[in-house]
Amino acid sequence: MTSPQPIPLDTLIVCPHCDAAYQLQRPGVGEKAKCQRCGTVLITPRRKAGLQIIAVSLAVAILIVAATVFPFLTIKAGGTANSVSILDAALAFSDGPLIALALTTAALIIFIPLTRVLLSIYVLVPIVLDRPPARGATQAFRLSEALRPWSMAEIFAIGCAVALTKISDLADVAFGPAFWMFAALVVLVVVQDNFLCRWSVWTSLDKT
Ligand SMILES: [Zn+2]
Repeated sequence: MTSPQPIPLDTLIVCPHCDAAYQLQRPGVGEKAKCQRCGTVLITPRRKAGLQIIAVSLAVAILIVAATVFPFLTIKAGGTANSVSILDAALAFSDGPLIALALTTAALIIFIPLTRVLLSIYVLVPIVLDRPPARGATQAFRLSEALRPWSMAEIFAIGCAVALTKISDLADVAFGPAFWMFAALVVLVVVQDNFLCRWSVWTSLDKT
């Protein structure tokens, strides 16, 4: 009895969602490889996509920093107006027992999304320029992917919008520039995540 010919591992691709394994076939330009069982997109090669992703990542990084310091909302009550930024809100709790909560919140809505975009810029720039991967790029990309479920800027923005519509009965509340920056962030983060072909990045990192 002869055992079946072993399939070389680098010609296999496994669906990250349902674990179905496929023999690798590179899709042509403009085509996508999808999992036949669950429809998850496996490969989306796009020419020049890397450059666009870097541009979007830079925009996200700038927006996160700006959204942190610019006023998030203005509350008018009893003839006085108060503008509050995310930074003010986080610092308001910094001397009480709620400091852990304040730090966790700040991490989830500011530092983790910021770390993720900076890591992806670090990983993608050498790949797009056809240079050897940056030092520790594999670990950087793995960390960025691991942080993905913990990046909550968009959830925060939606939560704030809901909370603000509720308190708008009690006081005169107006959204500041930072709110609209967060709204733009929600869209850009989704764009960045969907345009990034993880398979292409891993393959580029594997070449070394
Ligand atoms: Zn699947």
